[in-house]
Amino acid sequence: MHYAVRILDVEVDAVTADEAVGLITDAIDARHGHGAPSFQVATVNPEFVMHARRDAAFRRILRDCALRTPDGAGLMLGARILGHPLPQRVPGVEMVIDLARAAATRGDRLFLLGGAPGVAEAAAEALRRAAPGVEVAGTLAGDAGEEGDAAALSAISASGADIVLVAFGAPAQELWSSRNLAVSGAAVAIGVGGTFDYLSGTVRRAPRVMRRLGLEWLFRLAQQPSRWRRMAVLPVFLLLVVRQRVLRR
Ligand code: UDP
Repeated sequence: MHYAVRILDVEVDAVTADEAVGLITDAIDARHGHGAPSFQVATVNPEFVMHARRDAAFRRILRDCALRTPDGAGLMLGARILGHPLPQRVPGVEMVIDLARAAATRGDRLFLLGGAPGVAEAAAEALRRAAPGVEVAGTLAGDAGEEGDAAALSAISASGADIVLVAFGAPAQELWSSRNLAVSGAAVAIGVGGTFDYLSGTVRRAPRVMRRLGLEWLFRLAQQPSRWRRMAVLPVFLLLVVRQRVLRR
């Protein structure tokens, strides 16, 4: 069993990508075997943690998630500052590709919900190339708000999907999953943020060397300068983590 690290108000599970995929496929088997509860996954980054500070509903949803994977260099640094390093950063796009490969051999069905029009289909094509034989049972750009729930639910039920990848960005994708997963017929929902944009090539990922150095965020900022506003919370995040560490002593 893995441990969890509490970073400010949010628990993050200390799992590798392989372990995350194992837990997700176990949840699908449990659901098929004895109707276990559905399994919501959040890919947590510092913006999630900062948002959770001022949004009690979001905080509660994250607490109730079955799995919270560590995404983002800031989160890795935060855990180190707290003296509980996380084993590995688990970027959403990499976990999704690993999961699609496992799904291809196991026969699990995926549904891709969210993204700009056409992006989920392009991401599905890319997943089929990366994970030959994977069954993407449906895609829908959909609508993140409650008014979109009925259309999404009927498409997901009709597809017979086991896993729904929800790309509405945080916190909309977490809210969507907590409202809808249990009645969708799927066993697992994962909030995947900008993953479809990467898979489809709509947005380029940082070069490997930048990722290794923990500088993916800098590359993203250069590509999408409008992100600065969200990223402005990062220094505050680190200060609060340092305070958490100091107060604990
Ligand atoms: N998005 C969407 N509907 C919305 C708002 C956002 O489909 O109402 C999509 C958007 O197209 C993008 C994703 O949600 O693909 C959010 O990506 P972002 O880069 O913000 O997520 P991150 O990876 O930073 O968590």
